[in-house]
Amino acid sequence: RSMSSVTIPPPACMLRPLEAPYRYLFGPGPSNVPPRILAAGGRPIIGHLHPEMYEIMNDIKRGIQYAFQTENNMTIAMSGSGHAAMECAVFNTVEPGESVLVAINGIWGERVAEIAERMGASVHTMVKTPGGYFTNKEIEEAIAKYKPVLFFLTHGESSAGLCHPVDGIGDICRKHNCLFLVDTVASLGAAPIFMDKQKIDILYSGSQKALNAPPGTAPISFNDRACQKMFNRKVKPVSYLFDMTHLSNYWGCDGKPARVYHHTGPVSSFFALRESLAILAEKGLEESWRKHKEVAAYLYKGLEDLGLKLFIPDKDMRLPSVTTIAIPEGYDWRALLTYIMKHHQMEMTGGLGPSIGMVMRIGLMGYNCEKANADMALHALADALKNCKKSKA
Ligand code: PMP
Repeated sequence: RSMSSVTIPPPACMLRPLEAPYRYLFGPGPSNVPPRILAAGGRPIIGHLHPEMYEIMNDIKRGIQYAFQTENNMTIAMSGSGHAAMECAVFNTVEPGESVLVAINGIWGERVAEIAERMGASVHTMVKTPGGYFTNKEIEEAIAKYKPVLFFLTHGESSAGLCHPVDGIGDICRKHNCLFLVDTVASLGAAPIFMDKQKIDILYSGSQKALNAPPGTAPISFNDRACQKMFNRKVKPVSYLFDMTHLSNYWGCDGKPARVYHHTGPVSSFFALRESLAILAEKGLEESWRKHKEVAAYLYKGLEDLGLKLFIPDKDMRLPSVTTIAIPEGYDWRALLTYIMKHHQMEMTGGLGPSIGMVMRIGLMGYNCEKANADMALHALADALKNCKKSKA
């Protein structure tokens, strides 16, 4: 027996073909990926440092600038999911010991607070139960009190189904010399956001929601105020992979003549992301926002006709991409969702983090945002309500 003979045999599962079912992804993401984007991701790959790839990355940058409504040069896509953008934003703009203020009204604020805590920031939070939101007065008072270098707010709170107002907060942050960081992972393309006009200093999103690309890339943009702060640090950011000094060079944003190797970008995912941004550009932001609002309103009506209660009472505060339903009395939400998956091959989900046990969530995003899909979701829900009724002993 040679020393090189394997002792671990090939696993039986690997000798069977890949099986991935067709599913209606009507949860909070990932959303179904349309054939055109799948095809883009399936093209033969090229080198991540080939000039053609730089062109594709430049296109992605322009596509993100449009989607974010920003002229920021420092606009890139992370090689990683939404969390990569969350960590990139915090790691680069905050130094250990600095004060950070996080608005928590669902899981995303909780996550950012933990990320900031882990890198040694002094974290302060303002907390509301899921569905709650913050007035500009409350925000200004907290900023004046804690003097943070960074204030975080979630625009599309997907765990609660709330779309938080953003107007005026950028001005407050500027007045108090604080950077304004906004999460639009669940809202980009579904609800209006204007990075430059709303004076947002750092904005990020994700690929797998209304953009309909596969999960795994995340647009992010920094304005000059944010660049001033992050490129004048005393200590290097804790992450090498997410260091914007390197990423800005990789994305051709640092004005240097050559891009040098930092990490190998996910070429296929960038192809898909480019295609998804192209579809948004062709369709137009206003049309995309209008469509999400229209289909969401249609869904609200159908849910109310089924006797269900929307979790966010104020229509204008609802996130058009992810609708939250209050769990109907007498029902086990897990049983309803399991029934819908089993009998309708359809994903809807429960709550997340603090909203677990409070809501069920239906996401109709981008390509999935059609009245016909709302009808299918309503039909599946009606069927589940009929068949999962808990006996009230
Ligand atoms: N923020 C929000 C608002 C989200 O909805 C999500 C994804 N559900 C994330 C951040 C995290 O993104 P990812 O799962 O791609 O890391």
